Amino acid sequence: MNNHVTVLEIDGNALEHNLNYFKQKLNPTTKILAVVKAFGYGSDSVQVASFLQDKVDYFAVAYTHEGIALREADIKTPILVLHPHIQNLQDIVDYRLEPNLYNFQIFNAFLQLADEAPLMNYPIHLKFNTGLNRLGFWHTDIPKIISELKETGHIKVQSVFSHLAASEDLEEQEFTINQLNNFAYVAQQFYKHLNYEPMLHILNTSGVVNYAQAQFDMVRIGIGMYGFGNDPKETAQLKNTHNLKSIISQIHFIEPGETVGYNRAFVAKKASKSATIPVGHADGLSRKLGNKKGYVLINNQKAKIIGNVCMDMIMVDVTKIDCNEGDEVIIFNSQEMIQHITDVSETIVYETLTGISPRVKKMLKT
Ligand SMILES: *Cc1c(COP(=O)(O)O)cnc(C)c1O
Repeated sequence: MNNHVTVLEIDGNALEHNLNYFKQKLNPTTKILAVVKAFGYGSDSVQVASFLQDKVDYFAVAYTHEGIALREADIKTPILVLHPHIQNLQDIVDYRLEPNLYNFQIFNAFLQLADEAPLMNYPIHLKFNTGLNRLGFWHTDIPKIISELKETGHIKVQSVFSHLAASEDLEEQEFTINQLNNFAYVAQQFYKHLNYEPMLHILNTSGVVNYAQAQFDMVRIGIGMYGFGNDPKETAQLKNTHNLKSIISQIHFIEPGETVGYNRAFVAKKASKSATIPVGHADGLSRKLGNKKGYVLINNQKAKIIGNVCMDMIMVDVTKIDCNEGDEVIIFNSQEMIQHITDVSETIVYETLTGISPRVKKMLKT
């Protein structure tokens, strides 16, 4: 049992609000796939998926073991594994996960497993590379895939999909539209040559924001569900889902000339008061937040981080804050605070959220 006092509260109502915000941008029949990879963007994929299972059509995880964790928690919703490996294929079947088959090596391995089992119409997903050059078949692979599919009843293409490289960047509109056109061509080939119609999907969160016309049958919402729209205007419509809280472990009174923390990085110019908080870089707080670059909230007041961020702790300046050992500390509880941490850490909110370590206790609240 994790009884850590630093807790990430996941706001279930905010998750639901954010999903509904994207739903109202879509046709009523468009399916929603909720992306819960990387522990639900640094939260808790099991708690998030348990809460969302009757509100979405699909889940996606990156790796097979992430899907197994959901099945072991008795989640029944279809789960797309975005990045399986040959070594995982038996587990995929045993846990009724749905693999993305992205090259001939894994496609053939899965086909062989399906033939030998034998499986009947086992749902698989085919990913096409339309410009990201990361994972996916190339459109020239289509004839060979189709001919293999026509010879087997053991697998069935549940969906054909692709992923955009720059859906958030309107300066790359021409490139993105080219990706969408490439995808439409791929889709057309499958529609023409298969006697059934696989689902089609290409949009992530910012794809929904900027290219809703390309929603096809389903959209894959990740960061937006967790409160960030890749655009300040969109983010303002969303609610924050990740709230990181802790408590004051100890308060120190510092004399002028004394120092605080490793490398004596903070030197008190005057009589000061510091509070020690049990959260550090091992919990996902970048060392770039040290030396007054980052702050926390204590009794609604900003307390700057002084000295270096330690592995397990930070010290903050509470000279002017009325507070006691045991008081609550907010590391972040708003999109503004998460964005500030992200900017100071010189990264993107995806990394800030997914960086929250498994050591932090996670609790979904509604
Ligand atoms: C992570 C991921 C998503 C979700 O993207 P967001 O920008 O977080 O909405 C969608 N599709 C694929 C293939 C992904 O890897």
